[in-house]
Amino acid sequence: MATVILGGGITGLGAGYFLSKAGESITVIEKRDSIGGMAASFKHKDFTFDVGPHKLYSTIPGIMNVYKELLGDDCVVVKKKNSLRLCGRYFSFPIKPLQFIIRFPKIKAISCSFSYLLTLMNKKTDIINYEDYFLSGFGNAAYKLLFENFCWKVWGDPKKISAELAKRRIPVPNITELVKNMLVKKQKPEFSADTFYYPKKGVGEVCEKLAENILKNGSISYGCQPSKIMVENGKITKIEIKKNIGKELLKNPKNVISTLYLQDVLPLFEPSPPQHILDAAQALKYRSLIIFYIIINKPKVLDDHWIFFPEKDFIFNRVSEQKNFCKDIAPENKTVLTAEISCDAEDYFFSLPQEELASLVMGDLEKAGLISRNDAAESHVIKIEKMYPVYDLSYKKNLQVVLDWLNSISNFYTIGRQGLFAYTNTDHSIDMAQKLAEHIIKNKTRDDWNYTIKYFDSYKIVD
Ligand SMILES: Cc1cc2nc3c(=O)[nH]c(=O)nc-3n(C[C@H](O)[C@H](O)[C@H](O)COP(=O)(O)OP(=O)(O)OC[C@H]3O[C@@H](n4cnc5c(N)ncnc54)[C@H](O)[C@@H]3O)c2cc1C
Repeated sequence: MATVILGGGITGLGAGYFLSKAGESITVIEKRDSIGGMAASFKHKDFTFDVGPHKLYSTIPGIMNVYKELLGDDCVVVKKKNSLRLCGRYFSFPIKPLQFIIRFPKIKAISCSFSYLLTLMNKKTDIINYEDYFLSGFGNAAYKLLFENFCWKVWGDPKKISAELAKRRIPVPNITELVKNMLVKKQKPEFSADTFYYPKKGVGEVCEKLAENILKNGSISYGCQPSKIMVENGKITKIEIKKNIGKELLKNPKNVISTLYLQDVLPLFEPSPPQHILDAAQALKYRSLIIFYIIINKPKVLDDHWIFFPEKDFIFNRVSEQKNFCKDIAPENKTVLTAEISCDAEDYFFSLPQEELASLVMGDLEKAGLISRNDAAESHVIKIEKMYPVYDLSYKKNLQVVLDWLNSISNFYTIGRQGLFAYTNTDHSIDMAQKLAEHIIKNKTRDDWNYTIKYFDSYKIVD
């Protein structure tokens, strides 16, 4: 029987791709009517929109080659340009020393230096949360300026977010490293991408290519989701699949690879996991994301690929111009700006109607000096309820409880951003998929797999 893959995002398709290359037969089960998950692109009139513009970049050996191999001539190499808006001014990101000296408000720079010196004199040793981490590395003034509001905007209360997130998400741990980093001519590849790859038809093209290969020796079922996963003697023997119309029973899967949210997959098991396991999965929390697209009646707006907005005066965290990644995604005389707004699904923002959101986003884009309201032709919005895994102070313990229980099922593997509650990018998805395929093909032990999962913890996001 085939290996069953739950979820047709880049991780699930990646696993299917590497396994089918090794001759395994694959069945992918996807809930929606299209593949790609968060790394999908979709058509909107004459535009191709990504679910948030994606750069393809990796410091993991071999992954850039996988992208290249899949995309062939459709792979564009882009020289990256980012900025950061701070204290009413724009700075290149990573910040350049000369630009910083000339443009950064002097009073703020002096207050950051003094506050850092004070921190060095009273070094904090027990670093538990996000706030501890940056206060100890940057001092109070720089923490407040650069990191505190950004945390509130994207993840929530910095005192309730684990220092682990800070380490994974922001590669520079203190001011000394920041200054050293500013002074080097060429950034270290693990700090910042110099160039990145981008598919001519949008990021979704990677998933399309993975799927093409899977279909040579397997199938992808759309509009389907598992409704029961039956386990006998520590092994999955049947999966009930709910389709748009009717149900199907998949018997004796060789392996089952899930890329679904852990709280969605656990209740499907029969016999059911004990209540404390289900509770641990439910305790894993997410932040939501609103992705707001504004079509502009101009060929181009920004010089950058994206601009970060860490201050709370702007509702968005980041604004990108996807046409700067590749001009083919938009008509010649128009462009699109994408604004990302994080919040909780219960926040009033999340349920605001599109017109009200449009008014807020356009107001802030005007305030940022990027557009005039009259330039905007129309808007489009998508909302992702469970977007950012929230690394709160108990997430690690809860995650481990869930993974330990799942470990007892010999032919089940959970990987990917949702499957491992991991703050990851597409390169990590491809790497996880490749490592799992290799594990299965080489018939390695469960202990080997647990060791590999620990290695996934070392992934970092590079801007
Ligand atoms: C705004 C934004 C910007 C990003 N920027 C970048 C970037 O610049 N570079 C980069 O490399 N990465 C970026 N990422 C991250 C990247 O998109 C994700 O890490 C990656 O796509 C996760 O893939 P996945 O397959 O693990 O999860 P998902 O993409 O979530 O895939 C899971 C799949 O499972 C399906 N599914 C869910 N529930 C069920 C069910 N019950 N039954 C069947 N199917 C189900 C979903 O429909 C989906 O297709 C970004 C993400 C976003 C949203």
